[in-house]
Amino acid sequence: EEEVAAYRKSLAIRVSGFDVARPVKTFEDLSFDSSLMSAIAKQGYERPTPIQCQACPIVLSGRDLIGIAKTGSGKTAAFVLPMMVHIMDQPELGKGEGPIGVICAPTRELAQQIYSEAKKFAKAYGIRISGVYGGMSKFEQFKELKAGCEVVVATPGRLIDMIKMKALTMHRATYLVLDEADRMFDLGFEPQIRSIVGQIRPDRQTLLFSATMPKRVERLAREILTDPIRVTVGEVGS
Ligand code: ADP
Ligand code: MG
Repeated sequence: EEEVAAYRKSLAIRVSGFDVARPVKTFEDLSFDSSLMSAIAKQGYERPTPIQCQACPIVLSGRDLIGIAKTGSGKTAAFVLPMMVHIMDQPELGKGEGPIGVICAPTRELAQQIYSEAKKFAKAYGIRISGVYGGMSKFEQFKELKAGCEVVVATPGRLIDMIKMKALTMHRATYLVLDEADRMFDLGFEPQIRSIVGQIRPDRQTLLFSATMPKRVERLAREILTDPIRVTVGEVGS
């Protein structure tokens, strides 16, 4: 345990919550299968970043997570890699409809970045990802969603539009990520986020990532996450 504490300290990782999984040192430590390992190698990722070292084992253990780390620290792969494992583990994978993984981000640009990162890892599994944000007509978007997918990467407004149009159902969704939660609040998306969360089954796994943790983000996190573990990397303001 002392060794774990020293290792966390060396990576500037702080954790709070009970039964926190140990941080890993290498991607091998995460026991990913060979398709995921080769996709990681193809990206040129040699070792996990600090947030990935601590967040991945926690998320793989099924726990809810609040991840706080600055921009550029590798938060996307910290939720995208475990999401691949989560999806491949679903008994309903070949059945049912609607996304299993739902990722919300504040802007189209950020959603697009997550979409491209997720695509790289999803390809080997045949996991289908739909980008649900402006830039495509609502009609085209509707058709794409109707064709089916395992993951949506969405901005909140467009996702709600698509749910209202019955382009997708949330019945199968069990892995919810709110990325850049502080910016989603700054942009006034709190009501939309609450509406989306309210449509996803309560026994889902929920992950919230943010560069900062203002009070109202904290309050939302307390309401929608279950016994979350908080991981902070580096010095982060509130
Ligand atoms: P954040 O969401 O924390 O701002 P990103 O997930 O966008 O950070 O990652 C920042 C950059 O680091 C991206 O270009 C990404 O491809 C790269 N990256 C992520 N994980 C690793 C890794 N383990 N090794 C090397 N580069 C990585
Ligand atoms: Mg990010």
